[in-house]
Amino acid sequence: MSEKKGLFARLREGLQKTRDALTGRVDTLVKETRKIDEEFYEELEDILLLSDCGMKATMTIMDELRARVEAGKVKDAGEARNILKQIMVEQMDIPRPPLKWPMVMMVVGVNGVGKTTTIGKLALRFQSIGRRIILCAADTFRAAAAEQLTVWSQRARVPIVKHAEGADPAAVVFDGIKSAKSQGADLLIVDTAGRLHNKKNLMDELNKMRRVIDREWPEAEVRCMLVLDATTGQNGLAQARAFKEVCEVGGIILTKLDGTAKGGIALAIRQELEVPVWYIGVGEGIDDLQPFNAKEFVEALF
Ligand code: GDP
Repeated sequence: MSEKKGLFARLREGLQKTRDALTGRVDTLVKETRKIDEEFYEELEDILLLSDCGMKATMTIMDELRARVEAGKVKDAGEARNILKQIMVEQMDIPRPPLKWPMVMMVVGVNGVGKTTTIGKLALRFQSIGRRIILCAADTFRAAAAEQLTVWSQRARVPIVKHAEGADPAAVVFDGIKSAKSQGADLLIVDTAGRLHNKKNLMDELNKMRRVIDREWPEAEVRCMLVLDATTGQNGLAQARAFKEVCEVGGIILTKLDGTAKGGIALAIRQELEVPVWYIGVGEGIDDLQPFNAKEFVEALF
């Protein structure tokens, strides 16, 4: 219970910038509103757009809000605020398939989004619930990538499989699977190269890794997790669309929410990509990677 409370407090802290920008403005608007009219709706719409909720999510939320306010004969702006909150939860609550073991988690995303840090946090997180993890340094494009991942493997005290710079990523995955099987691991977390500027190469590379997994470890569940940096806003959405073209994105990990006032991007992702957000990063600490829960997220915002 106390750990849960601690996590929620961290979540609240991490979302502070967005809370100030989004909920702070909503509250001011609510206070100043005598009656719910066109002006109220327009201002609310602006607030959502400014928080990077995106056009599609904003329109869906506003349509739903108007309909419910009308149907419920709601006159009080405070009550409209509660309805807004409810709608936001519903909008983001996409069911996530349960985790199945053994699993290969392929972590994709462009450089700088927080991929390595996130892998380290995930390793510690799964280890703390008793899972056996092996890291696989399949970003052989940059020498620094394997080095950085090695540092995290030491922090998390989990084994790492790596090859020399320039090696075939699929060969690293092959060895990673061999280790995972011989050590009875539950989870192989694969770091991949974020070369989105060369889509064809990236797609070939990811497909080749996927074939190796399917052949060598057919019983393993494969999940492709895309890491997006929340501070990049709409550009992050563009990255996601591009990644959806090169692999089957099963989930999103949204990092650096603590560094932006535009956390509404979580809503935009849901509306525009139809892919669930699995984890969110709300800081650089180990507990600052949390499973995404729509209700808690909205509670922390309001
Ligand atoms: P990579 O190039 O994608 O592997 O990115 P890194 O894992 O090296 O992270 C890039 C920077 O982002 C580092 O300084 C991390 O500490 C930082 N970072 C990662 N996740 C978060 C987060 O959730 N919040 C904050 N504030 N910083 C983060």
